[in-house]
Amino acid sequence: MTMNRFWALAEGPLPAWPQEDTFVLKEGEIPTPGPGQAMTRTIYVSLDPYQWYYKQQRIEPVDAPCHARTVSQVVRSRMDGFAPGDFVFNTNGWAEYGLMGKDVWRPNYMVPRKLDESSRISHAVGVLGMLGLTAYAGMDLLASPKAGDTVVVSAASGGVGQIAGQLAKQRGARVVGIAGRDTKCRFVTDELGFDACVSHLSPTLPADLAAACPAGIDVYFENVGGKIFEAVLPLFNAAARMTICGLIAHYGEEAGRDSRAMLMKLGEPVFSSRGVRVKNLSVGDFAASHHEEMLAYVGPLVAAGKIKYREDIRQGLEVIPAAFAQMLRGDNFGKMLVQLSLDPTLGQV
Ligand code: NDP
Repeated sequence: MTMNRFWALAEGPLPAWPQEDTFVLKEGEIPTPGPGQAMTRTIYVSLDPYQWYYKQQRIEPVDAPCHARTVSQVVRSRMDGFAPGDFVFNTNGWAEYGLMGKDVWRPNYMVPRKLDESSRISHAVGVLGMLGLTAYAGMDLLASPKAGDTVVVSAASGGVGQIAGQLAKQRGARVVGIAGRDTKCRFVTDELGFDACVSHLSPTLPADLAAACPAGIDVYFENVGGKIFEAVLPLFNAAARMTICGLIAHYGEEAGRDSRAMLMKLGEPVFSSRGVRVKNLSVGDFAASHHEEMLAYVGPLVAAGKIKYREDIRQGLEVIPAAFAQMLRGDNFGKMLVQLSLDPTLGQV
């Protein structure tokens, strides 16, 4: 055990959406922790749409493993508070091993933390981590659904969408999901308990959505944009609330970075005439202030089975680029993860 395999970006211009040759598998020494650092083995890699945005904007360091949030186990530690064997949330990226701690690059709010084993450790990059916080902040804190409201959530079977919709159900709202394939729509209603779900693959999406929302829309949780937003727009009620969480349909576009501004421009006549309140969500703004609050609220709901959470777990470092591309085009079913090593908390030894 001396070598570390990882995926890095290949040289050359980036395509609109990831292709087979966009990433290159590399091998290097397993890093040695310096003072204030720990070296960890990756168990789960989280694949998220924002990682493509990071690559397009060249936010992560070049020649390093592609950035990702991970669940890992400490192998060697010179970092206070972390000992070999500890399970941690960190950012090893698309790599078998990585360092955390002093001088290791990470987005500033993705602070390494020790995990307890009272819930599944994979949930630390999902429902009990950034995705749970995204859903909680975007739904409960920014949109405040009330009993009787009609709430619409796009990408409803995905990592964020499934939680956001169930949180609105907890507040007594009538919740309508928008998802792709029929199997996803059935999951959203039959398993997650949404009141209805319409497919954005249907040629009659605007009419289908209008039929599913006979009293109009009071809250819209936007994950996608494009034609889905156009179908939602005419249905907004007076004083409706909209959270712009993500615009995945636009991430491959040249102008993807300005997609929130484009959407605001398109919606402006309706927003101002009906007094729709639109809030942009950036989960990092809530990480320090609301993570514990989210855990205290969402954790017991998950433990009691009142919030269900589906993961799509693929196996092995080799599959990461393909799994990432599949997630971006909707071929995931639940929160997309790749497992790189055994999860001892599940009895895998
Ligand atoms: P998901 O697990 O929801 O996976 C993405 C899903 O998006 C796909 O499964 C697919 O579902 C749907 N999708 C992809 N392309 C399209 C398209 N062109 N039209 C319609 N649907 C499409 O991902 P996440 O839960 O991780 O992320 C959801 C959104 O939340 C993203 O936009 C992401 O960027 C955003 N986000 C924002 C954060 C913030 O701080 N603001 C933090 C975290 C996430 P289907 O097959 O049902 O169409």
